[in-house]
Amino acid sequence: LFISFEGVDGVGKTTQVERLRQYLESRGRTVLVTREPGGTPLGVALRRLLLGGVDGAGADIAPRAEALIFAADRAQHVAETIRPALSRGEIVITDRYLDSSLAYQAGGRELTAKEVRDLSMWATNGLLPVRTYLLDMDPAESHARLRHDEDRMEAAGDDFQARTRRAFLDLAETEPERFRIIDAARPVETVWTQIRVDIDALFGY
Ligand code: C5P
Ligand code: MG
Repeated sequence: LFISFEGVDGVGKTTQVERLRQYLESRGRTVLVTREPGGTPLGVALRRLLLGGVDGAGADIAPRAEALIFAADRAQHVAETIRPALSRGEIVITDRYLDSSLAYQAGGRELTAKEVRDLSMWATNGLLPVRTYLLDMDPAESHARLRHDEDRMEAAGDDFQARTRRAFLDLAETEPERFRIIDAARPVETVWTQIRVDIDALFGY
């Protein structure tokens, strides 16, 4: 069973992914936690390019090139990590997946959603999560939570972040069965409880 977490930077995806892992493991499940970009050795190299820029100092990457690098990361991620784990019967939880590409590479930049979606569906051979938790909050607020130095992507500006948030919400509205929109501005425990209630329903707990 395949689950993804999405949302702009700093909304607490990593924290909630970890909560969910602990919860499912306490129920006796085998869980694989992974992330994009960078869920494989190839992905780690691609992540370095994407976040640091080719020269390590933020040199720009053309939008189509960037979309292809994210797609390459995802293709390797699915082939090497996600599909094998799913066929072993494990639960796979990923911190970002194709909706991030739709929100960032299409919503934020100049490519159309259809182009980016087709690219991603090709890269993954059509693999979609059963459930996607969209952790939603004002990017101005979530950004303030980030404790590390900005990477190339995070430095993209308020406008870009706001369009990205909007793009995530629009995506969630078009696929209400797969998505759950979670108000991530609330305390961590409140956010987790909302996710757990949905997980219990999904797994019949
Ligand atoms: O979530 P994480 O910090 O690992 O993401 C790395 C960076 O890449 C973030 O700044 C995120 O905004 C960006 N990103 C992107 N397109 C994707 C996935 C992540 O621009 N498809
Ligand atoms: Mg980040």
